[in-house]
Amino acid sequence: MKRAVFLDRDGVLNIEAGYIHQVEDLHLIPGVAQAVRRLNDKQIFCCLVSNQSGPARNYYPVSHVEALHKRLCQLLENEAGAKLDALYYCPYLSEAEGGTNPEFTRYTTWRKPNTGMLVAAAWEQDLDLRNSFMVGDKATDVDMAHNAGCTGILVQTGYGESVLSGKYQHHTKPDFVAANLVVGVDWILKHFD
Ligand SMILES: [Mg+2]
Repeated sequence: MKRAVFLDRDGVLNIEAGYIHQVEDLHLIPGVAQAVRRLNDKQIFCCLVSNQSGPARNYYPVSHVEALHKRLCQLLENEAGAKLDALYYCPYLSEAEGGTNPEFTRYTTWRKPNTGMLVAAAWEQDLDLRNSFMVGDKATDVDMAHNAGCTGILVQTGYGESVLSGKYQHHTKPDFVAANLVVGVDWILKHFD
């Protein structure tokens, strides 16, 4: 089994900008491409895990989420020759949470802080969750990490600072708080043998 670094998307890799309706509005946070490249160079499996409820909210189709991911991968490649080894996202949302498009409106184990995406990735990619890391900017990212037995890192980019100050979501206990993904990757590499 491989160890992995799971990465949230918005607020970790790209600048948090709410629901991104125009593909060109997705921009990387400075330094993240080089940080992902460092993981690539160590042959550490890099896996995106992202809640993307836009399709369930009828904001845009799944093809738009895929287009955003294509741009994300292109920017990582262009800036540092970096790559994500796999991408998982959850387009579903319950009606209670605001889902309106019947095709994507449902409860699902894939939505963070549930562990469905991590479990699916573990099965499909032969990953060792107990010895893997999850980097996110929300309490729900850290909670998902812990629910799956991963080490949970909270970055202060995106919503991270608001989570820490108690203004957003709820209190959580990350294993490490990093100013950004660059610092998070430094910490991971120190703890990765
Ligand atoms: Mg996020």
